[in-house]
Amino acid sequence: MTQALKLADPSLLTHNCLIGGVWVAPGEDAIAVRDPFDNALIAHVPGLGAEAVNEAVAAAKAAMPAWAARPAKERAAVLRRWYELILANVEDLAQILTAEQGKPLAEARAEITSNAAYLEWFAEEAKRVEGDFMAGPNASQRILVMKQPIGVCAAITPWNFPNGMITRKAGPALAAGCAMILKPASQTPLSALALAVLAERAGVPPGIFSVITGPAKQIGAAITSHPDIAKISFTGSTEVGRWLLKAAADQVKRLSLELGGNAPFLVFDDADLDAATQGALLSKFRNAGQTCVCANRIYVQENVAEAFTEKLIAHMDGLRLGRGTAPDVNVGPLIDEHAMAKMQEHVKDALAHGAELRRGGKPSALGGTFFEPTLITGVTQEMKVAREETFAPLAAIITFKDEAEGVAMANQSEFGLAAYFYARDIGRIFRVGEALEAGMVGVNTPALANEVAPFGGVKQSGIGREGSKYGIEEYLEIKYLALGGI
Ligand code: NAP
Repeated sequence: MTQALKLADPSLLTHNCLIGGVWVAPGEDAIAVRDPFDNALIAHVPGLGAEAVNEAVAAAKAAMPAWAARPAKERAAVLRRWYELILANVEDLAQILTAEQGKPLAEARAEITSNAAYLEWFAEEAKRVEGDFMAGPNASQRILVMKQPIGVCAAITPWNFPNGMITRKAGPALAAGCAMILKPASQTPLSALALAVLAERAGVPPGIFSVITGPAKQIGAAITSHPDIAKISFTGSTEVGRWLLKAAADQVKRLSLELGGNAPFLVFDDADLDAATQGALLSKFRNAGQTCVCANRIYVQENVAEAFTEKLIAHMDGLRLGRGTAPDVNVGPLIDEHAMAKMQEHVKDALAHGAELRRGGKPSALGGTFFEPTLITGVTQEMKVAREETFAPLAAIITFKDEAEGVAMANQSEFGLAAYFYARDIGRIFRVGEALEAGMVGVNTPALANEVAPFGGVKQSGIGREGSKYGIEEYLEIKYLALGGI
């Protein structure tokens, strides 16, 4: 049974959607939300479709001109209040997040606070949307460049960061003067609905932020075909990202895509091996390996491979599996049976092709969707674990001879979200940092995401950036006035 959620403010656990300022209760098509710890029912949320999208878009279109016309400082004050309310309610939000997603409470708190910071950041950036004024092509002309909100935006977010993926999108959109309609993942909608409660309390006007839960295909089709949605921001799998890109092509909609990764993590022989193993542990096992920037392929230079492996195993032996709310737990359950099946398939495939199992390798005795943190060595580029994103607690170690071979192996992927490497030589740090085909490279650190930095991928990992001074540009259009007769 799910432990009853004990919230300081029980009104944050709403089962209703917010559409154009109206809270809509679940009906017959309600979707069940379950605790991945034991599959117990937590709540039902509405199973809405195209009609709800149409209502939300109409409300957004009506509300947006007044929102966009408000001075940036006023929009900033609303975003700032939303940020402060999230921080004031972090314990309740973390309880809700852990109940529906399974991650340890400490990780849930970190997700909420570090991503609320995007609201704080973009509240400030709202005031810094700048244009240009240039000399014209002749004496009687001047050029004036301005930036305007792109229009009504839709966002679609995944289950692995049910809270954090929302503020990164809503923050810049609302700061730019846009309205946003959000469809959260069906497995983890409660964090999104709690954020909507706080948005309303912060003074986000009706229609400017709506949240719709329901079947993905119906909502996706309604969003991609709606003529009044100017932009879609999506975080999720590359497969769905490709579909959205094609579906939105008919109306030439703008898209930001944060898609799958298959991050390489390289350890060179001049690296600080203690720092590298600590980094690998965090990068690999945070959120039970279910992060898009997770180390998926760990490349270690031959002459330090065994020393690195033994140190990593020693760290792994200290990992504690369990319910996210239990003290000292650092690995929760996987999200569902599909995730378990993929983990098992990758382990089986690797072992069948000659890899060696050094730790774990099987479902945990805890049952449910717990899998033992697993380490395999002797992995090759051909194995599934090297070609596909595992999204589970599987550390796969591949060895390389020298810098050129390590970089070439790391770049052998259609994905390019995150990459990491550990080295001390300054020349190597520049060479490898520049050569890795990824949108983000962690050099001697596993921590990449923060509101100040541009988050995003290259190759089939996506289009666009979230966070930083670049993030707000995704929600702005450039217009220029040709001023004549001067
Ligand atoms: P997913 O299956 O692509 O789902 C993501 C979201 O898309 C969910 O809200 C889902 O709704 C929705 N969706 C599914 N099919 C859709 C369709 N036809 N039209 C519109 N929406 C649709 O991905 P996931 O399994 O939840 O998340 C894991 C993936 O996300 C991994 O590949 C991971 O790397 C990636 N990810 C990337 C980043 C990044 O920043 N690059 C961050 C986090 C995760 P339902 O839940 O209702 O199916």
